[in-house]
Amino acid sequence: PKTPKGICGADADAIVARNLLRAVAAGSGCYIHIVENTALNLKAIGESGGAIKSPAALDRLAEHLAVGGATMHEKAANVANAVLADLYRPRYEPMKLTERMAYGPRYAKWEQLGILPGGAKSEVFDGVVKSSTNLNSDPVDMLMHCLTLGISTGLYGLAMTNLLNDVMLGEPVIRPAAVGLRTIDPKYINIMITGHQHSCFTDLQEQLVSPAAAARAREAGAAGFRLVGCTCVGQDLQLRGEHYQEVFSGHAGNNFTSEAVLATGAIDMVVSEFNCTLPGIEPIADKLKIKMICIDDVAKKANAEYARYDYRDREAVTEKVIAEALAAYKARRGAVAISIPENHGNDDTITGISEISLKRFLGDSWKPLVDLIASGDIKGVVGVVGCSSMVSGGHDVLTVELTRQLIQRDIIVLSAGCSSGGLENCGLMSPSAAKLAGPSLRAVCEKLGI
Ligand code: SF4
Repeated sequence: PKTPKGICGADADAIVARNLLRAVAAGSGCYIHIVENTALNLKAIGESGGAIKSPAALDRLAEHLAVGGATMHEKAANVANAVLADLYRPRYEPMKLTERMAYGPRYAKWEQLGILPGGAKSEVFDGVVKSSTNLNSDPVDMLMHCLTLGISTGLYGLAMTNLLNDVMLGEPVIRPAAVGLRTIDPKYINIMITGHQHSCFTDLQEQLVSPAAAARAREAGAAGFRLVGCTCVGQDLQLRGEHYQEVFSGHAGNNFTSEAVLATGAIDMVVSEFNCTLPGIEPIADKLKIKMICIDDVAKKANAEYARYDYRDREAVTEKVIAEALAAYKARRGAVAISIPENHGNDDTITGISEISLKRFLGDSWKPLVDLIASGDIKGVVGVVGCSSMVSGGHDVLTVELTRQLIQRDIIVLSAGCSSGGLENCGLMSPSAAKLAGPSLRAVCEKLGI
């Protein structure tokens, strides 16, 4: 800096910590919004007697959280209420499920450090307050607040969201899946989905393949309806794709790939509910007559129609999507050129990995994996997770190259988010990628056929 302090007297440490806290609070707010809506959807399902796709997942989660219920639906509502009660607590009241969600020794360390989170929404709120002009100037305090937000975001925004989704949408099953632009079939009315809130699509997924919807599609000249996965919600649908083989065409790509997905001309509608619904897709949608519908206004696009999703209004939202998709299909097919690169992606990306499905795959024990690491044959596991980016060489270049380097050194890569979308489209999640791995990892992959 040109001067040691800003005009208000804040030093570089305070300024940097303040900016970091503001960014972390914003990120936490996003994921807490997701888990809040997910829990609200489960609560509504529980209270209205809606479909519970995996009673086993519900039993497991309820037991883990020590939540009871006389019926499955009561149990679902009670689990959702326990999560929501935590999210809505004041900041001075620690969330009750944190200890049950956390790894024991780590929880003890957090307690010792005094960074256990109070109500998750209040933690975000005070993070914003602290990082506002001339409030907190203690960098250590602000960085500790970042750690607290990391705990609530990781345990509730990420882990809890997935556990609740397992109940409503079915548990992941390991399987080979088609990925990339090749998954788009122009014979269908194609709806690209973007966002992070898979539980907002429960009804749409079922209804798009109902006999009534199929008949309406045929009447319009299409083979039916398909959901085309994009961004994190596409990744989620791929994860649970075993249960949605008819309606889900496959995960076409990650955030930046969404522009290319639309540019194929074969997408008739975009339904968005969260990030990353890039503003950059708006002019493409306008030019190619693609209807945009947003079901959560936190991700409202300027050219999208807003149809707020609430579980109680699901039938009306689903009907709106179907009717508008049919209208868009009729208006644009024949008027817009379609070009789908057939060689983009592959048909054998191994997907459906969860803690439970992976352990089952290994013979209901972690021992084979632990033994490989303990013997030194496999050097370890590295997470390459999160958003894709355009820096360091271009779209997905950094994560793809990093992953190649890691597997060459017999290191297993654990991937999630849009990084995963890039890695799979480049073939690094297919069995054929084994030949790029170091000798030990290659032998393991070839033996297991993954
Ligand atoms: S992983 Fe990142 S880039 Fe991809 S949809 Fe999620 S937030 Fe957006």
